[in-house]
Amino acid sequence: MSESDPQSQEQLVVVLPDGSELEVDAGSTVEDCAYEIGPGLGRDTVAGKLDGELVAKEAPVYDGVDLEIVTDQSDEYLRVMRHSASHCLAQAVERHYDDVDLAIGPPTDDGFYYDFDNLDIDEEDLDALEDEIEAIIEEDYEIEREDVSIEEAEDRLAGEPYKLELLEEFADENDEVSFYKQGEWEDLCAGPHVDSTGEIGVVELLEIAGAYWRGDEENTMQTRIYGTAFEDESDLEAYLERKQEAEKRDHRKIGNEMNLFSIQDVTGPGLPLYHPPGKTVLKELEDFVEDLNKDAGYDYVETPHVFKTDLWHRSGHYENYADDMFIFDVGDDEFGLKPMNCPGHAAIFQDQSWSYRDLPIRYAENGKVYRKEQRGELSGLSRVWAFTIDDGHLFIRPDQIEREVEEIMDMITDVLETFDLEYEMALATRPEKSVGSDEIWEHAEEQLENVLEKRNLDYELEEGDGAFYGPKIDFAFEDAIGRSWDGPTVQLDFNMPERFDLSYVGEDNDEHEPVMIHRALYGSYERFFMMLIEHYEGRFPLWLAPEQLRVLPISDNNLGYAHQVANEFDEFRVEVDDRDSTLERKIRAAHDDRVPYQIIVGDNEQADGNISVRDRFEDQEYDVEIDAFKAHLEAERDEQRTEPDFLQD
Ligand SMILES: [Zn+2]
Ligand SMILES: [Zn+2]
Repeated sequence: MSESDPQSQEQLVVVLPDGSELEVDAGSTVEDCAYEIGPGLGRDTVAGKLDGELVAKEAPVYDGVDLEIVTDQSDEYLRVMRHSASHCLAQAVERHYDDVDLAIGPPTDDGFYYDFDNLDIDEEDLDALEDEIEAIIEEDYEIEREDVSIEEAEDRLAGEPYKLELLEEFADENDEVSFYKQGEWEDLCAGPHVDSTGEIGVVELLEIAGAYWRGDEENTMQTRIYGTAFEDESDLEAYLERKQEAEKRDHRKIGNEMNLFSIQDVTGPGLPLYHPPGKTVLKELEDFVEDLNKDAGYDYVETPHVFKTDLWHRSGHYENYADDMFIFDVGDDEFGLKPMNCPGHAAIFQDQSWSYRDLPIRYAENGKVYRKEQRGELSGLSRVWAFTIDDGHLFIRPDQIEREVEEIMDMITDVLETFDLEYEMALATRPEKSVGSDEIWEHAEEQLENVLEKRNLDYELEEGDGAFYGPKIDFAFEDAIGRSWDGPTVQLDFNMPERFDLSYVGEDNDEHEPVMIHRALYGSYERFFMMLIEHYEGRFPLWLAPEQLRVLPISDNNLGYAHQVANEFDEFRVEVDDRDSTLERKIRAAHDDRVPYQIIVGDNEQADGNISVRDRFEDQEYDVEIDAFKAHLEAERDEQRTEPDFLQD
C-alpha cells in the first residue's frame, strides 16, 4: 500500500467497476472516494472492496486500485453484518462468562464464528447467549471505529494473550491499529462493520466445536461458536431448511450407511479407504470416462506416486509448491509424492522425438496425487491428502487448439449432462504477469472464444483471471439442492513445454514448442463422488448403484426359486435377502439400502415362473416376465438413465 504524504498535493487514480477512472487526492479513503462520486453514495457507504478485498470504509485507496463501494444493497453487506454479529456474540459471552480469552471472530461464507479460550459452555447455553445478542441488537449501540497507537492498543488488550499475539504481528507493519467499540465492549479489529448493532437482522447460534488456535494442532484447542445472521426471519428460515437438507445428504453419513468408504485414525486423516460398494461406484465412473477417452483418441499411461525431486525442480513445483508436498530423503536422494500428474506426462512426451504429423498426442491416467492440506481442514472426501484425478494432458500444435478444446468441451458436457447437472462456463484470460508471447496468447484466447461462441451458450468472461501460464475455461455446476460446485477445467499451458524442453519438428523442418492442455472431466474422483452421493442422496442411477437388484423371497419355501431368479439376472449386481425375516422388513431394508429395484418372489410367482417388481419409489407390479424386465434393465443401465423407470412409463 502507498503511504500518503501530507506535504504533496499528489493525485492518484482509482478504477471503478464500470471501468471509468476517478482522480482523488493521495491519502483519500474508500469513503472519500464515495463522496467524490456523489454525496448520497458517500452517506450510504458501509465498506469497500480494494482489488476484490473487503475493507473498512476508512481504508486508504492506492494508485491504480480497482475500487467497489459496498452499501447495504451490495452482496457483501451480509458479510459485513455477520462480522458485526460475531462481535455481538463475543460481547454476549463476556457478559455471561468471566475470564474468557478472546481469539478471532471472522465472517464465513454462510455465517460467522468466534473462538474463545477458557470458556466452559454446552449447546444448551446457546439460547441464553442468543437472547443476550438479541438484547444487544435491541440496544442499537453505535459501532465506533477508533485508530490507536500500538502502545495504547497494548494497554487496552492487557490480559488478552491471543489478541496481544495478533497485535505483535500488526505492529511489524503499522504504527496504528483499529478498535471497534459497541457499548461497554470493544475489539481489536480491522473491520468493516455496520454502523450500529440495530442494523443486524436476526442471529442464530448453530453449534459449538473445538478449533486449534490458528488452525495449528500444536496450539491450544479453543472453543468455537458458530452462528449465522440474516436480514430477516424468512431468509434465516430458508437457510436453515437448506442446511437441514444438506445434512440429510451429508456424504459422510450416507457413505457410512452404504459402506462406501471409511477414513480411519489408524490409517491417517485425509486418506480415504474405499470399501467394495464404494469402489464399485468408482469403477463405473472410471469405465465411463475411459470409454470417452478412448473414443477421443487418448492413450493411457501410468506414472508412479513418487519421483525424485529433480522432476519437481524442473516443473517448478519445488519452488512454488513445496510446502504442500510430501518430501523425504532416501539415502542421498530426495523424493516427493506427486501433487500433480502433469510433469510425469511431460517426461513421457519428452522421451521421444515427434513430428508435426504425430500431434496431437493425448495421454490419460487415473492418477493419484498427494497434497498436504492443513489437518484441521480435512473433512470426509471434500478435503483429503490423497485423491485421484481423471487426468489428461495433450501436446498439440498451436493451430490445433480450437479443435482439441472443442472435443474436450464435448466430453465434459457429456459427463455433466449424464448426471443431470446444470452448468455454467467461464473464460479466464491473460493476467498481468504471464509467460508466453503476445502472439500465442492472442491466438489461443481467440480459439477458446470461438469454441464458446459456437456453442451458443452464455459464458462469463473473466478478464485477467487466467493462470500465468495460459488461458482456461472453467465449468461450475449446480447439484439437486441448488448448491454450486467448481467443475472441470480446460487449461492451456505455455510454460511447462518450455521447462521440459518439449518440441516437435514442424513442416519447415525446424524445432517447435507444442502447447500443453491440462484437462479433467470429473476433476478429482473424491470430490465428484462426494458430490454425487449428496446430489442423489445415495440413490444412485441403476448403472452406478453398488447393488442394483435385490431378490426378496416371501418365505423359506421360495428360497430356491429366489436364487434361480438371481441367476437369471447375473449380469447385474444382484443379492438375495435370505434372512429369516418378514417380507415387510425385507422391503424396508432394501429401501434403506437405496437399492433401485426389488424382485419379490412368493408361491404365485414361483408357480407361474414370473416375478413381482418393486422400485425405490415404492411402486409395485405383479406378474412380470423375467425377460421383459431384464430387457428393460439393460436399456436403463446402458442409457445411464438417472432414475429407475420400469414402473414409471
Ligand atoms: Zn472483528
Ligand atoms: Zn495437469
